[in-house]
Amino acid sequence: MTKFYDYIIAGAGCAGLSLLMRMMQDPFFSQKKILIVDASGKTLNDRTWCFWEKSPDIFEPIVHHCWNKLDFFSETYTAELSISPYTYKMIQGLTFYNYVKSEAERHSNVSWLKETIRGLASPETDEEGKPLSGIVLGDRSIYAEYVFNSIQFEPIRPEPHQYYLQQHFKGWTIQTKEPFFDPGKATFMDFRVSQEHGTTFMYVLPTSATTALVEYTLFTKDLLSPDSYDIALKRYITEYLHIPEYEIVHEEFGIIPMTNAILPKANGGIVYIGIAGGQVKASSGYAFRFIQKKTAAIVDALKNRRTVSVKAGFPDTKGLLYDSTLLHILYHQKMGGSDIFSRIFRHNRASDVLAFLDNESSLLTDLKIMSSVPTGIFLPAALRELKHLL
Ligand SMILES: Cc1cc2nc3c(=O)[nH]c(=O)nc-3n(C[C@H](O)[C@H](O)[C@H](O)COP(=O)(O)OP(=O)(O)OC[C@H]3O[C@@H](n4cnc5c(N)ncnc54)[C@H](O)[C@@H]3O)c2cc1C
Repeated sequence: MTKFYDYIIAGAGCAGLSLLMRMMQDPFFSQKKILIVDASGKTLNDRTWCFWEKSPDIFEPIVHHCWNKLDFFSETYTAELSISPYTYKMIQGLTFYNYVKSEAERHSNVSWLKETIRGLASPETDEEGKPLSGIVLGDRSIYAEYVFNSIQFEPIRPEPHQYYLQQHFKGWTIQTKEPFFDPGKATFMDFRVSQEHGTTFMYVLPTSATTALVEYTLFTKDLLSPDSYDIALKRYITEYLHIPEYEIVHEEFGIIPMTNAILPKANGGIVYIGIAGGQVKASSGYAFRFIQKKTAAIVDALKNRRTVSVKAGFPDTKGLLYDSTLLHILYHQKMGGSDIFSRIFRHNRASDVLAFLDNESSLLTDLKIMSSVPTGIFLPAALRELKHLL
C-alpha cells in the first residue's frame, strides 16, 4: 500500500482545524503532507465558542470579545465574580473556520477535500512494512501514518453504570436600539429561570452596549420542544433583562454530550480528537480549551517522535471522578445544578472554580470546593463512581 499523506485530519471542525493550525505554525510540519477532509465547506457561523484562559493562545488574533468580570445569579446567591488571572473569551465559528482556511492557502503541503467520510479503513502496511491508517471515501480508501479523527461514526453507548445527559441550548444574538448591556461583563450563569426540566440557566454575553448573545441552556436527559426554547428566551429578555424591543440578528442551537462513557482515545495510528475523543468536560460541556490542550500535546508528541499519548494523566482521571460524581447527582436528581453551583461559587474564589472546571486545580483546592457541597449527598455518589473507575 502506498502512503499518500503523512497525516489525515478527518473532520474540519474545532479539533481538526485547531490541530491543523498548530501544525501549520510549526516548521517541523512544513514538509509533511497533510490532508484535511470534511463533508461541509464550513461556511456557516454555526457556533460561538466561549472559554477562559490565563494567557493568550494561538487563536488570540480572532477573539471577538473578552470579559474580566462575570455575573452569577441564582435564587440563593448573586455575585459579580472577578476571574483574574483568567479572561473569559468569545470566538465566532465562521471567523475561526475562515482564519484556518486562509492560513492553509499559504501552505502547499496542506490539501482539502470536501467529501463525506464513510468510516475508518482497516489498517495496512506500506512497502517497507510500516503501519498505515486510513479513511474510507466512497469506493476508495486513503492512507497516512496517522489519522486524527474527530468524526463520531457511532453513537455514544454508555455502559449501564454510566450516565448520559445532554447539554442543549438555543442562543439568540439580539440587538437593541437603546444601550442595555455592559460589554465589560458577561453573565456566566443565571439560574433564576424555571428549573422544572432540570438544571437550567441563561448566559448573557454582551459584545457592545446594544448587542448580546443570550443563551438558554439545560442539562437534561431529553430535549424540549422547539418552541420551548424561544418562549424561555423571550420571557428572560423581557422579565430579567427588561428589554422591551430587540431584533434577533443570529440564532444558534447546539447539543453537547455530557457523559462519563469512555470514548476511544487511539487505535494504532488512529487518534481520536475533539468530542469524538472525549475532549469535552462531562460536567460542564466546555470543550474548546480541552481541545486546545489535546492538539498542542499531539503536536508536541509528533515533533519529539513520541507515541501520541492515549493514557489519561492524574488530573484527567481525577476530573473524570468529579464529573462522574456530578453526573450521578444530576442524573438521579439528588440535587439541582442551581444549588450546587451556587454553593461552589459562594464558598470559593471564582478563579479556583474555573481551574477546577479545567481539571487544573490542586488537590487542596479540590477538597475546598468539594467541602462546599453537602457531604451526605456527594460522598456516597463519589464512592460509587470511584468503584467503577478502579
Ligand atoms: C452550537 C455549539 C456551541 C458550543 N459552544 C461551546 C462553547 O462556548 N465553549 C466550549 O468549550 N464548547 C462549546 N461547544 C462544544 C464544542 O466546543 C464544539 O462542539 C466543538 O465544535 C467540538 O469540536 P469537534 O472538532 O469535536 O467537532 P466539530 O466542530 O463538530 O467538528 C466535526 C467535523 O466533522 C465533520 N463531519 C461529521 N461527519 C462527517 C463525515 N461523515 N464525513 C466528513 N466530515 C464529517 C463535520 O462537518 C464537522 O466539521 C459548542 C458546541 C455547539 C454545537
